[in-house]
Amino acid sequence: MSTDLEIVKNTNLKAKPEKDQLPFGRTFTDHMFVMDYETGKGWYEPRIIPYEPITLDPAAMIFHYGQTVFEGLKAYRANDGILLFRPDKNLERLNLSSERLSIPPIDEERVMGYLKELIHLEQDWVPSTPGTSLYVRPYIIATEPNLSVAPSNTYKLMIILSPVGSYFSGGLTPVKISVEDKFTRAVKGGTGMAKTAGNYSSAYQAQAKAYKDGNADVLWLDGVEKRYIEEVGSMNIFFKINGEVVTPELNGSILHGITRMSVIELLKKWGIPVTERKVSIDELHQLSEKGQLEEAFGTGTAAVISPVGELNWAGEKMIINNHEIGELSQKLYDTITGIQTGKLEDSQNWTV
Ligand code: PMP
Repeated sequence: MSTDLEIVKNTNLKAKPEKDQLPFGRTFTDHMFVMDYETGKGWYEPRIIPYEPITLDPAAMIFHYGQTVFEGLKAYRANDGILLFRPDKNLERLNLSSERLSIPPIDEERVMGYLKELIHLEQDWVPSTPGTSLYVRPYIIATEPNLSVAPSNTYKLMIILSPVGSYFSGGLTPVKISVEDKFTRAVKGGTGMAKTAGNYSSAYQAQAKAYKDGNADVLWLDGVEKRYIEEVGSMNIFFKINGEVVTPELNGSILHGITRMSVIELLKKWGIPVTERKVSIDELHQLSEKGQLEEAFGTGTAAVISPVGELNWAGEKMIINNHEIGELSQKLYDTITGIQTGKLEDSQNWTV
């Protein structure tokens, strides 16, 4: 056990949800992790305490200027214990996001120890039905009561846990996506590369527009030329074009997805050509007309692989792989979920 960690056990444990009652992010476990920060003192008082509401001053800086970052990862039930998928990458990215938001860094190794302790304590909350997992949400908020437009001098790092159901209860399902040509998610020099609250709430308007037209989500284009593909919803995106896999290069406005990184590493291992480069919507349209856009899929912690069956762009409909699941999408999904749940050998040492 991390020696400086205080654990206060909850004596009033909640009933675990029914197996099929796991809507995303609505149920929380019995405990949470909290650690505070103060300028000059650093991060202090790491503790695991009963899950409960917290009290903040109405002037706390998080409420006014959104100085906050978060992460999302999952713990999976395997035959011989609980597995986390590349959690070191999430803590590394948390620090990357924090740097962009002028939030002080955490000691990644130390926090990894606390995270493991929390999951160990809450292990009975990790569901076991195929496709289910325990979603882990670490986040940092600025807590100083101060209306100045400047970085806070105090913060809270918290980790909460939520059992979640399968993203695709009936197997992988290709979705319809609307290419967003009005709203922008992020621009170079902005905060797109950081996991910070404002990037998500500012996407709701575009999401609502997409849903209204029967699409599952939005394909984001770059904010300057409105031509180059960036991401799909809260996922990175890949295309299979003439046997080659292509994904937008990390340009400062795209989130450094851990599933994206894992897909690239797997493809390289399998000897499938994969290129990170600019991909324009016009190029995709031309390829689609010629029948050369073979597969498209989003990647992210929530769905792992989410096949795209149709792109709707300025009145044009691009049907991909006849709305069917591509072979490569399925193979990547099976491989990554197999590794995450300990069913397949983890030769890359991704799981902890
Ligand atoms: N893009 C955005 C904007 C996201 O929020 C996420 C989810 N973290 C991703 C991509 C996918 O990242 P990951 O594979 O690490 O979940």
